[in-house]
Amino acid sequence: MAESGTWRRCSACKKPIALGATYWVCSVSTCNRKRTGLAFCTVSCWEVHLPGANHREAWALERTAPLTPGEEGAAPAAAESNGPRRRLVRGPAPAPAEPALPRDVLVVASRLKDYVRAAAGYNTSDGVLQPLSDIIRAACDEAIRNARSEGRRTLLERDVPPPR
Ligand SMILES: [Zn+2]
Ligand SMILES: [Zn+2]
Repeated sequence: MAESGTWRRCSACKKPIALGATYWVCSVSTCNRKRTGLAFCTVSCWEVHLPGANHREAWALERTAPLTPGEEGAAPAAAESNGPRRRLVRGPAPAPAEPALPRDVLVVASRLKDYVRAAAGYNTSDGVLQPLSDIIRAACDEAIRNARSEGRRTLLERDVPPPR
């Protein structure tokens, strides 16, 4: 089978990589050892090996296949001056961040101030609204746990913890 003009075959799709053609290697050294020597015809093909490879961080590096069969590929000369051309593509999915819960003020400021004035005759700084809202959120979290323990998805009055 004449494969003149072919340097190697893509490690993923097995299509030939032509002599002198651009191909891609993995930035991770274990994928790049002489023995392993993964070479990919496109960045998409490079992505194919990621799920099994379990890299913490990886990117595809552009290479140019040699013009002579049997030789190793090299980084493109033009790219050397400003560093190898990289194409950073997703490694393994990062741990999903917890979605940020809203941290709005939950209390009606005027009603709260009325209460404090009635109870003690004091004024109330707006700064108390946020920590009080945190207390309400904590009570809600406890109520959610109580409802969940009964297999309910609706908070009821009895789920709310009593004031300390
Ligand atoms: Zn390929
Ligand atoms: Zn790799």
